[in-house]
Amino acid sequence: MAAAVAAAAAVRTRILQVSSKVNSTWYPASSFSSSVPTVKLFIDGKFVESKSDKWIDIHNPATNEVIGHVPLATKAEMDTAVASCKRAFPAWADTSVLSRQQILLRYQQLIKENLKEIAKLITLEQGKTLADAEGDVFRGLQVVEHACSVTSLLLGETMPSITKDMDLYSYRLPLGVCAGIAPFNFPAMIPLWMFPMAIVCGNTFLLKPSERVPGASMLLAKLFQDSGAPDGTLNIIHGQHEAVNFICDHPDIKAISFVGSNQAGEYIFERGSRHGKRVQANMGAKNHGVVMPDANKENTLNQLVGAAFGAAGQRCMALSTAILVGEAKKWLPELVERAKNLRVNAGDQPGADLGPLITPQAKERVCNLIDSGTKEGASILLDGRKIKVKGYENGNFVGPTIISNVKPTMTCYKEEIFGPVLVVLETDTLDEAIKIVNDNPYGNGTAIFTTNGATARKYSHLVDVGQVGVNVPIPVPLPMFSFTGSRSSFRGDTNFYGKQGIQFYTQLKTITSQWKEEDATLSSPAVVMPTMGR
Ligand code: NAD
Repeated sequence: MAAAVAAAAAVRTRILQVSSKVNSTWYPASSFSSSVPTVKLFIDGKFVESKSDKWIDIHNPATNEVIGHVPLATKAEMDTAVASCKRAFPAWADTSVLSRQQILLRYQQLIKENLKEIAKLITLEQGKTLADAEGDVFRGLQVVEHACSVTSLLLGETMPSITKDMDLYSYRLPLGVCAGIAPFNFPAMIPLWMFPMAIVCGNTFLLKPSERVPGASMLLAKLFQDSGAPDGTLNIIHGQHEAVNFICDHPDIKAISFVGSNQAGEYIFERGSRHGKRVQANMGAKNHGVVMPDANKENTLNQLVGAAFGAAGQRCMALSTAILVGEAKKWLPELVERAKNLRVNAGDQPGADLGPLITPQAKERVCNLIDSGTKEGASILLDGRKIKVKGYENGNFVGPTIISNVKPTMTCYKEEIFGPVLVVLETDTLDEAIKIVNDNPYGNGTAIFTTNGATARKYSHLVDVGQVGVNVPIPVPLPMFSFTGSRSSFRGDTNFYGKQGIQFYTQLKTITSQWKEEDATLSSPAVVMPTMGR
């Protein structure tokens, strides 16, 4: 007992040592630059400096200062990482499910203890507010907690006595080496939707975080190692297109989980599938909030403002489009007033409601899409393009922006803006609103605001979107369910996390078994097709 307590204390101390360095130079300093730290690769249980001659800068989006350098891993380094996953796989797949569960149980505890440190790192690299960054870690943590139920989730099926002395049963078995390619907007949540589920099922995992926000993944890897995960179960490489192509093509990688834009996701789905891999790709979105005139006005306006502008609109489930039905049109001025009250600031500043966009290019793109609205006949009711944030004049800030009189043919409606911009359409009826939503190619999320159960039921029933909220603006399902974006927001057959996640990371082996007493002696061979007794 005393030894166990001492071991736990040692783990905690190690993590605190990591945590205390997180804010500035958690990635150990290297010869690359005396002042700016480099991000390591995580290969075979070691944080190693890349030998690459290609590096890219990581910026703090609130200041655009360079805060780190991330390597584009060399082919040899990527090969070593996959070889490590492959080597670790047989022993890991043979490790008892109870032992795997124990590691996940320790992992969820370590994530909880270090949640604030991970959040600080997210805010530094990604820009979102600290509160929002904590939510980012928390939604990932929930999937880790769910993965701890592996002892039930992995159960196969049995059917005894299908004929005399014959039983049928199936196992859920791991696939081998799986890989994940993550986006910039949820630096902790998305990696945590991927590798814990895959690894608890007995797979090993190669992660490629977004090159813009690799820090959270590195700290999560350190905590995973401290939870007792054997070397090679998780490897991390960094890079852009070459790393993605490497993952799509490598014959030892059996499955790819992707989250990001349609441009990348459709490409990865096609290229990975062509090489015989399972691929699941969660992609872009245009999420509509339909506001009925009978909705609770106070609640609805607050929900709309939070879901449109929170995280500076850089969420795949951001409610970026409002459809005001009938008399709900009259609420527009109040919506604008509430949006005006949001405080735009660096994510680590007290009271900040929304932070900067990820890059100057992202800001420029968002501003161009707002411009396109003006040119195509929409009205800008609230314009965040010229916002200046005191003390952070070089940051990529855009203030809350509301564009009204928007038509489905306009560019600002058709494109995913991925910024703090709410486009507003108006209809006379619920049926017209449903038609607009269903004509839009994306199917990630939608919400209806109403106090009428029949209206809510009709909308939920008829709308062709994979995740629907009724008076819930961002309906991301908890992990006992799955993340079920649909249509152009998803490619693949099996969704992320929940039962679907387990299915994605496992294959079935079905065994038909006969044990006859007379098998002890030789029987004559059956030459006709076995019909299992029928
Ligand atoms: P992104 O597609 O630019 O990058 C995602 C990953 O793909 C990164 O690791 C990147 O290195 C790689 N990549 C980028 N371009 C590539 C290309 N042309 N070919 C191959 N690989 C490429 O996405 P992002 O900007 O990091 O993230 C924002 C996007 O992610 C938005 O479209 C958002 O809706 C989407 N997203 C979707 C979900 C979801 O669950 N549906 C969740 C979060 C984000």
